[in-house]
Amino acid sequence: MAGYTPMMQQYLSVKEEAKDALLFFRLGDFYEMFFEDALTASRELEITLTGREAGAEERVPMCGVPYHSAEGYIARLVEKGYKVAICEQVEDPATAKGVVRREIVRIVTPGTVMETKSLGDGANNFILGTAEADGRFGLAACDLTTGELYVTSFAASREAVRNELNVYRPAEAVGDAASLARLSEESAASGRTLLCTVREEADASPQSLAAQFPGELWEQADPVRRLAVARLIAYLGETQKRSLGHLRSVKAYDPQMFMALDAFTRRNLELTETVRDRSRRGSLLWLLDKTRTAMGARLLKRWIDQPLLDEAAIKERLDAVEALHGSWMQREELRTELNEVYDLERLVGRIAYGTANGRDLNALKASLGRIPAIRGVCAQLGSAQLVRLAGALDDCADLAAAIDAAITDEPPVSVREGGLIRTGYNAKLDELHIASKDGKKWIAELERQEREATGIKSLKIGFNKVFGYYLEVTRSNLGALPEGRYERKQTLANAERFVTPELKEKEALILEAEDRMVDLEYELFTELRDRIAGQIPRLQKLAEQVAALDVLQSFAEVSAERRYTRPAIGSGYELTVTDGRHPVVEAVSEGTSFIMNDTSLTDDSSILLITGPNMAGKSTYMRQVAMIAIMAQIGCFVPAKRAELPLIDRIFTRIGAADDLVGGQSTFMVEMKDIQVMTEQATSRSLVIIDELGRGTSTDEGMAIAQAVIEYVHDVIGCKALVSTHFHELAHLEQTLPRLRNGCMAVKENADGVTFLRKLVAGAADSSYGIYCAQLAGLPETIVSRAYGLLEGSAAGETAAAGIGAKRPSASGASAVGETGGSYAGSGPETAEADAGGLVQLAMFAEPEPP
Ligand code: ADP
Repeated sequence: MAGYTPMMQQYLSVKEEAKDALLFFRLGDFYEMFFEDALTASRELEITLTGREAGAEERVPMCGVPYHSAEGYIARLVEKGYKVAICEQVEDPATAKGVVRREIVRIVTPGTVMETKSLGDGANNFILGTAEADGRFGLAACDLTTGELYVTSFAASREAVRNELNVYRPAEAVGDAASLARLSEESAASGRTLLCTVREEADASPQSLAAQFPGELWEQADPVRRLAVARLIAYLGETQKRSLGHLRSVKAYDPQMFMALDAFTRRNLELTETVRDRSRRGSLLWLLDKTRTAMGARLLKRWIDQPLLDEAAIKERLDAVEALHGSWMQREELRTELNEVYDLERLVGRIAYGTANGRDLNALKASLGRIPAIRGVCAQLGSAQLVRLAGALDDCADLAAAIDAAITDEPPVSVREGGLIRTGYNAKLDELHIASKDGKKWIAELERQEREATGIKSLKIGFNKVFGYYLEVTRSNLGALPEGRYERKQTLANAERFVTPELKEKEALILEAEDRMVDLEYELFTELRDRIAGQIPRLQKLAEQVAALDVLQSFAEVSAERRYTRPAIGSGYELTVTDGRHPVVEAVSEGTSFIMNDTSLTDDSSILLITGPNMAGKSTYMRQVAMIAIMAQIGCFVPAKRAELPLIDRIFTRIGAADDLVGGQSTFMVEMKDIQVMTEQATSRSLVIIDELGRGTSTDEGMAIAQAVIEYVHDVIGCKALVSTHFHELAHLEQTLPRLRNGCMAVKENADGVTFLRKLVAGAADSSYGIYCAQLAGLPETIVSRAYGLLEGSAAGETAAAGIGAKRPSASGASAVGETGGSYAGSGPETAEADAGGLVQLAMFAEPEPP
C-alpha cells in the first residue's frame, strides 16, 4: 500500500472487507470504482473508464456514477449477478480531520435487493441458506423485502432438492460447498443462474437462533434446519449491516405436508409459467390470478406451488371460496376494498429497514383504514372460516391514528427536507415554525420599508444558498440609492446585491430555526417509524390474513366467471369427474368450444389406457385430470360439472419431450429415468400420467417396456393412472389386468377426411392415422401409397387381438366412433358427435410426428 495517497490507502483497506463485491466508494457526489472493479463496471455498465493519480507510478483505472442516480446502476450490476458494496462517508467532510472516514453500509446482492422496482410486485425474491449433513438437507428461504422466512429439511436427494428449488427459484444461496454444489447443478439444469457464497461457520445454537426468532422450539429442530437458518441470518447480517427487525417469525414445514410435484410435472402442467417462453401468461397462475394486492398475488403462487394434503385445511379454503362465490355483491365490495390496500409486507420491510418515507407511512395508514370495511364484508358472508378470519383481523387503529396525527397529507419523498410533520404535533416544532415565519415576515416588512425609504420600487429581497438573504437593486436604479446605506455583497451583470447587519442577524435566526426544524422533523419521523417497527409482528400477521383473503376471493371470482364447481374431496372418494375441462386450454380457446370429458378412476378400474391418433386430444385430457386434482387441493373450485376427488399425495407426469433434453441424454433415456423415479416414489395414493409410453426406441422394445411398466403400476404401485400409447397392440392388456380399461379419443372418418371429436370413449382406437397425417402434411402420393401398402402387408401377419386394421381413411363414411362401440363413463358416441360441432382441425396435422 505504501506509495499510495492516504485516500487510496483507505480505499484499499475497505476493499479488503468486500473482496467478492464491486466496491462503490463514495467521493463527494460520486461513487467511484477503482482497479479491477473499474474495468468490470465500465464494461458492464458501458460507462467511461478513466484513471486517477493515486501516488503510485501508474494511474489507477477508475470509473464512477453520480450518487443520485446510483440505484439504477446498482440494480443492473446485481441483475447481472454481481454483489455491490456501498461505501459511504460516515462523517461530515466539513469537520473531518484528514481523510473523511468511510465504511461499507450495505452489500447489495441478487438475493437481498430491497429496491422493489427491479423485482416486480407480484413476485418474491428469495435467498436460500442451506446445510447438508448425515444424508439430510436443510433449507431456509427468505424474502428480505417481505420478511417471509420458510424452513424445511428432508432426506437429501436430487429430486427433493430440485422440487424445493422449484418452489423458491432463488437468486442466491449461502451454505456449505456440498449443498451449494447440488443447488447450482439443479439450477443450471433448469436454466437459472444462482449466485452461491460458501459460508460454513455460523452459530446454530438454539439460544442464538432464539434471539432472532423467539417463540420457535429450536431445541427440537432438525440440526440441518438450524444450520441453514443460522448461515442465512449470519450472511444477511454481514451484507445488510442493520437489524433484521422484520425477520421475526419462521414458517417451518415438511415437504410431505404438500402434494409432491416434481420439477418436470410443474413445468409440464404449466402451473406458474409456460413451457414455451416461461411467461406467466398461459399458466394456471395466470388463469387464477384475480388478486387485488401484490401480497395476494405472491401468496397465490405459493398455494399453487404447494397443494395441500390436509383434508380439513382444503375444506376450510373451499368453504370460504363457496361463501364468496355465492355472494356477488359482497365479493365485489371486498375486491374494491382490497384494491386500496398497499403491499403491507413490503411496507413493513421498508419500515424495519429504515428506508420507509412519509409516503410509505401514509400508504400504511390508508391500507389500515380499509380493514374495518373488509372485516365487515367477511362477517356478513356466513362462512365460519371467513367469520373467524374477519374477527382476527387487527386493524392496528392505534398505528393508523399515530401516523395520521404526525404525517402531513402530502409529504415529500425525502425525509430530510422537512414538510413531513403536521403543525400541532410537537410544540417545539411549532415554535420553530413560528420563529421562521416571523423572521420571514420581518424580511417582507423590511423590503416594504426600504422601497419606501429609497423610492426604488423594484428593490427586492432575495435568497440563495451561497449568500443567504440580500437586497437587490438593478443597475439603472443604483443612482437613487444613498451611498453607504447597505454593504455591497455581490455584483451581477445588471444588478448589485447588498446586505445589512440586521438582515444578517435575522437570516441567522431563520436559518437556524429551519435547520432545527428539518432535524427535528426527521427525529420525530424516525421516532414514529421506530414505534411502528416495534409493532411489526402485528402488521405481518395482518398482511398474511389479507393476502389469504385476497387469494380466496380470487378463487371465487375465477370460479364464478368460468363456471367452476366445488369438488367433493376426501380420502374416501374415488376420482370421478363429470364434464371436466382443461382450465387453461378452455380459457385460451374462447370462441371455439372446448369438448368436455368424463373421468372415472376407481378402485375397480384405476388405470385408463388411452390409444388414438396424434392431435386427438389425449394429452390435453390427461393434463386436465391433473389440473383438476391440483386445483381442488389448493382449495379452488374445478372446471367440471361435478367432481369427486381423493386426496392425491403426488402427481407424476411424463408428457411431451423435446423441451427437457438435458445435455447429451436421449429422449428415451430421460423417459426411463423419470419412470425410475416414479417407481421409487409413487404410492397407491398417487396419480401417474404417462403420455406415449415407450416411444423413442424400437417398436418391439418400446412396446415390451410399456407393457412391463403398466403391469408394474397395476400390480405393485396400485395407484390411479392415465397412460396413452401409440401401440394399439397394448389394448389386449384389458383382458389380463383386471383394473385396466381401454379408452380412446373418438375420431370420425368420412368423405372429407378425419374429424377429431376430442371425446373420450371406451375401447381401443383402430388406427393411429400416422400415414394419414403424412398425407395431410403434403408428402408425395407415391410415399403415402407405398406406406399404406407396407402397413397392410405387415398388419396381415399380426395378431388381431386388438382388432387393429390398417385401412386407409376412405370415402365410405365409416366412423371410428361407431366402430369402437360402447361408451366410456357415460359419454356415448352420439353425444360425442353432437358436442364436437364439426371440429375439424386438419391444419394441425402439419406438425411431424415425434420419433
Ligand atoms: P394428442 O395428445 O392426442 O396429440 P393434444 O392433447 O395435444 O393431442 O390435443 C391436440 C389439440 O387439440 C390441442 O391443440 C388442443 O387445443 C385441442 N384439444 C384437445 N382437447 C380438446 C378438447 N377437449 N376440446 C377442444 N379442443 C381440444
